[in-house]
Amino acid sequence: MGQSEHAVPGILAAGLLAITLAACQVPPAATPEVRAILVTIDGLRWEEVFTGLDSTLARQTETFDALSEDFWAPGADQRKRLLMPWLWETIGEAGVLLGNRTLGSDGIITNGRNFSYPSYNELLTGQPDDRIDSNDKIPNPNTSVLEWLNGRPGFEGSVAAFGSWDVFPFILNEDRSGLPVNAGFRSATDSDRSDREDYLNTLQAQTPSPWGAVRLDVFTHHYAMEYLKRVAPRVTYIAYGETDDFAHDGDFEAYVRAAHRTDAFLRDLWEWIQAEPGYAQNTTLIITTDHGRGSGEGWIGHGTGPRWAGSEFTWMAAMGPNIAALGEVADRDFELRQIASTVAHAVGTNFTPSGAAPAVQIE
Ligand SMILES: [Zn+2]
Repeated sequence: MGQSEHAVPGILAAGLLAITLAACQVPPAATPEVRAILVTIDGLRWEEVFTGLDSTLARQTETFDALSEDFWAPGADQRKRLLMPWLWETIGEAGVLLGNRTLGSDGIITNGRNFSYPSYNELLTGQPDDRIDSNDKIPNPNTSVLEWLNGRPGFEGSVAAFGSWDVFPFILNEDRSGLPVNAGFRSATDSDRSDREDYLNTLQAQTPSPWGAVRLDVFTHHYAMEYLKRVAPRVTYIAYGETDDFAHDGDFEAYVRAAHRTDAFLRDLWEWIQAEPGYAQNTTLIITTDHGRGSGEGWIGHGTGPRWAGSEFTWMAAMGPNIAALGEVADRDFELRQIASTVAHAVGTNFTPSGAAPAVQIE
């Protein structure tokens, strides 16, 4: 009795010691958690992305000299690098870009409407839906890839969305999906928010916005950056919006400069990713737009009908550990509805809802 009373704790103690040692000796996981960041730049045409400043449209502005000093060069290759330098020096070298129609690569929008909500639905849920025929604030009946991932093991509570447009809480059906969505003029409200988030809240409340439904992208960008630093979600969506609204205003210079600023936001994001343990080397970045715009005088808008012809074309750029460094790809099309599966694939999952289009093959 005495012996066994003594022996049992001894065995327990030895077992605990072994477990403790084993825990200490477990090496860091060989494969860190893969992550993805999806970015959209609302209504930024493939023409600007792949050919840079449009001289005909620039000539019609009152600030042609300033615009051309900053962004004009005789060749499209030089112009695109002046307009979006980070995109071309980084993804152009280490990733893939699709949608340059002058090279026979079409990014095709399949919802037949070519405006924002139907297109965000298409790209986020993997298929178009004829029921979505307005930008009204109606909760999306369809499941986005963000909602789908948020319900999967390893991703619960680790998916977040940031947008400049105040319709995103409906597009992502936040009431059903439970996704955190900081969009429109929302503040950061988490109880453990940072001092910088508090300061953003103050600045946002005191900054006039040109538009009623869309905030300036600087707020969306920095709310997203602060959340990334604080929460480290596995999947993040950032939806910039200035490009589309400045274009609808007919302000071509502001549209062009917004594209250039968004490129700088992406540089800021990517430099943070590269310096951040847990993100560096294992994060895929996917960038696209919800729709194109018309050409010539039709650049101002988008939709259906001859005035907006061309707005049915999108583009995409991607870079990450499993994405080939193909640069600009010729003679290969893709469809906007493939973006959802492409995001899921980037984090090692297969987006399976019935009817969802497959991932773009960019590995
Ligand atoms: Zn749009």
